[in-house]
Parts: sequence; C-alpha cells; structure tokens
Amino acid sequence: MQQLWAPWRMEFIEGKKESGCVFCRILKEKTDRENLVLKRTPECFVILNKYPYNNAHLMVVPNEHTNDFVALKPGALNEMGRLAQAATKILQEVVRPEGFNTGMNLGHAAGAGIREHLHLHIVPRWVGDTNFLPVVGLTKSMPQHLLDSYDSLVDHFRRLS
Ligand SMILES: [Zn+2]
Repeated sequence: MQQLWAPWRMEFIEGKKESGCVFCRILKEKTDRENLVLKRTPECFVILNKYPYNNAHLMVVPNEHTNDFVALKPGALNEMGRLAQAATKILQEVVRPEGFNTGMNLGHAAGAGIREHLHLHIVPRWVGDTNFLPVVGLTKSMPQHLLDSYDSLVDHFRRLS
C-alpha cells in the first residue's frame, strides 16, 4: 500500500492508550454517532476509523473479542464478508473512490494498531490521494470531517438488511 500521510494518526500513536479494548467498549456503549458506528448486525459492526488513512476509511469488526482470524466462527466470518462487500458498494456510491485497499493487519509485525481485536480495513483510494490532506485536513478539523463522513454514510447502512 502506498503510504498516506495522515498526521492526526500521531494522536493515536502518541496518545494515552485505553486500558481495555476500544472495540469492546464501543460495542457496549449506545452512542453510535459519537463513536462513529455505522451499522450493527448480530455478529459484527461497521465503524469509521477515528484515525483514518484516508477519507471514509471504514472497518468491519466482529463482535467477538478475538485476534485469531483462523478461529473466527463461520457466522461472524460470513457476516464480515457480507458487510465488507456492502460497505464497498456504499462507498462506491457515496464517496466514489477510484480504488480500495482492504485487508487485515494480523499481529504486531504486520502493523496492527489494535492487536487484540480483529478488524478488516476498507480504505477508499483516489489517484493522487497521498496529497489529500490539503483538501480535507486544512479546511476542517478532523472531528467535524469525521462526523460529515458519518452523516453522509449512515442512512445507506441503515437501509442494509
Ligand atoms: Zn475487544
């Protein structure tokens, strides 16, 4: 993956780490807009990355707290795949990227930011987006930008069965 320059990720890298699992905390909370949760299903949820590599960077996360992809149960696995496909379709319609990076970073050596709980990244890409920061980063603060992305996507996810 071509490296994107996303300086707000320094907040994630240098900031105080939560003592528990951030995904498990968000699952228990009811504040989906604040937490950027776009969709909940019986086995998984879809969330905007608070520290995105690019505009509308989503993650599909199984509800089960596990970092063992190989042991993930078939129901959660199927739902992750279905949600990844649906999320890709919604992003195609709403943010019209020219490509995607999707995948999981499993383990420390692979660069996983949250190692203890599996998550599948869906990162929209545009030709030349390594320079996208001047477009979004300097015109709005990142939290407002994230909520704008959230609001433009959430109705599409609500319509998913
Ligand atoms: Zn967890």
